[in-house]
Amino acid sequence: MIRGMPTFHAFAPGRVELLGNHTDYNSGVVLSAAIQMGIRAEGSPRGDSTITLSSEGIEGTAAADLAAGLKPRGTWDDYPLGVVEMLRRAGAPVGGFDARFTADLPLGAGLSSSAALEVATAVLTTRMFPCDVSPLDLAKICRRAENEFVGVSCGLLDQVSSIFGRRDHVVFLDCRAESVVQVPFPSALGLLIVHSGVKHALTGGEYNERRDQCFEAARRMGVLALRDVTSDQLAAADLPPLVKHRAAHITGENERVFEALDALRAGDGDRFGKLMTASHRSSMENFANSTPELDALVEIAIRQPGCHGARLTGGGFGGAIVALVDVEASGRIAEAVVAEYLTGTGHRATAYPCLVGDGALAAA
Ligand code: ADP
Ligand code: MG
Repeated sequence: MIRGMPTFHAFAPGRVELLGNHTDYNSGVVLSAAIQMGIRAEGSPRGDSTITLSSEGIEGTAAADLAAGLKPRGTWDDYPLGVVEMLRRAGAPVGGFDARFTADLPLGAGLSSSAALEVATAVLTTRMFPCDVSPLDLAKICRRAENEFVGVSCGLLDQVSSIFGRRDHVVFLDCRAESVVQVPFPSALGLLIVHSGVKHALTGGEYNERRDQCFEAARRMGVLALRDVTSDQLAAADLPPLVKHRAAHITGENERVFEALDALRAGDGDRFGKLMTASHRSSMENFANSTPELDALVEIAIRQPGCHGARLTGGGFGGAIVALVDVEASGRIAEAVVAEYLTGTGHRATAYPCLVGDGALAAA
């Protein structure tokens, strides 16, 4: 840090998708939550055009020169540099700075450390170089950094959750309207995220196949997106059986999100949990994006007293589940799930008991 320059801080959390699986590219709705684990950023403007970046646990310091133009290099610093690049393209007066990141969020565990890194950078940068960007535009700038600079396609959910998350609230995102609402969530409930510890050789083929099947269903039904179809309308439609199953997951997920909003309004955590378990069943039966390991984790979790429901979270085909649990039972359930999963499958799971935490806006 350059002496005499003020120091700025930012925090951005990871997130977990609670309901609304694969609804984003169907113009649908999603419920997610920010978790307490995240990435902290500390930085100071330099007064020149150099950017230096370091992250605890990663050796060395990355450097780039704004005057020479920012280019992706295929390393971790592409995420923060991409955010700087997209902020500048949006007209923000960003100059050189030194920044340092520390994280208590595991990388690549499906908790969206990439979005946390982007959002931490975006918030830090706009604190160092104030500009008039709305929180939703900031989320879009971060997504653009990941899509266009890093070169990873992703929807808006991760960045929106990391920015708009709030303690004891879930985040409702309408992907068609691009609108966000923070919805009160019972404070006695916590989230238990359990990573299956199994990496599946993914070519990305399954994901694109599901997308195409959803688009095919919408096309055959004469609508813009599956968002425009109810489960009843779908059931009455004449579609190839496989396409119909895939589409039923999407229409069901959208409906479960709205039912979950009703449940939250009534303060009914148990009903919310049952919707999560129904979501997992639909992944198994309709969308075929679960795995035997994720199924085992869900089955074990929902058997535990104090667990209200569980489902796979994120794209599926491996990765993690999320269970809705009583906060006071969270540690005990975590231990039981990891132990029973090891005995049953021989795989070592990693459990992360989480509370619903503040997003970057709400966090200090
Ligand atoms: P996820 O977002 O699910 O955690 P990704 O593969 O999308 O997984 O993003 C992980 C990548 O993000 C890492 O490989 C690294 O490049 C970057 N990253 C995340 N957290 C950090 C961190 N604390 N420090 C440096 N790089 C990080
Ligand atoms: Mg990511």
